[in-house]
Amino acid sequence: MYENVPDEVDNVIVTGKSGAGKQPRIDVLVEEYGLEQLSTGDIFRSYLGEFDGYGYDGDISQFWDEEKEEFVADDRIAEEIGTDKEEVILGLKAKYFVDRGKFVPDRITNQLFDSYFGKQDYSDQVLDGYPRTVDQADFLLDLVEEKNTKVDFILWVRNTDEKIIARTTKRRICPECGEVYHLKYDPPEDGKCADCGVEVIQRSDDTEEKIRARLQEFKDKTKPMIEYLDGKIPIAEVSGHLEEFTPENVRKSVMSSLEELYE
Ligand SMILES: [Zn+2]
Repeated sequence: MYENVPDEVDNVIVTGKSGAGKQPRIDVLVEEYGLEQLSTGDIFRSYLGEFDGYGYDGDISQFWDEEKEEFVADDRIAEEIGTDKEEVILGLKAKYFVDRGKFVPDRITNQLFDSYFGKQDYSDQVLDGYPRTVDQADFLLDLVEEKNTKVDFILWVRNTDEKIIARTTKRRICPECGEVYHLKYDPPEDGKCADCGVEVIQRSDDTEEKIRARLQEFKDKTKPMIEYLDGKIPIAEVSGHLEEFTPENVRKSVMSSLEELYE
């Protein structure tokens, strides 16, 4: 039905600003190509879970070399905490930054990504939230070459800052069941969840200040990443805004942008 688009792909990247509307487009690619969604958030949760589950309760700051700004050797960590399980050690490294509310350095994110992607045989994934920087993109290019696989294309979901701010600041969520409302498009009656009857709230991530910070990070780090990959991996662009939002319209817009790319 769609001309010239690939029948099968190894991996694809979906990128765009936070709040641009990536998820419905990811859903299309997952369904169309039988892929799995690999999200950075899931990777972090997975390794943090491994570490927490292991139950080490000593001080993890001893494994960070303040002077060199890197972790001590893995075998030293393994000896100290009593296991050489890669997942646990990676979880410890992730926890070090998450606990301190610090930005996770690219080389740690790359390690976590590599390990997780490897469990999926480096294929059949929609990469969501990775790569987010030029360094991560570079790492990914080397990795897929080394593993004899590829990223077929990038789907870039475009949206304006104004639309993203308007949409996310008016978002409300039920603290009980997680149902999402929107003050304009899907307003909660009397400000309460229809199912639970409790007052809906704004997520702390959805304040204008937080959204603007994420948009700035996109401009500073992710936009240069996309420019860096331009010419190395084919890029299809799709609007994150539809006049009429229906699953069929989302599918059409994604597949037409691929048709255009492979014309
Ligand atoms: Zn509810």
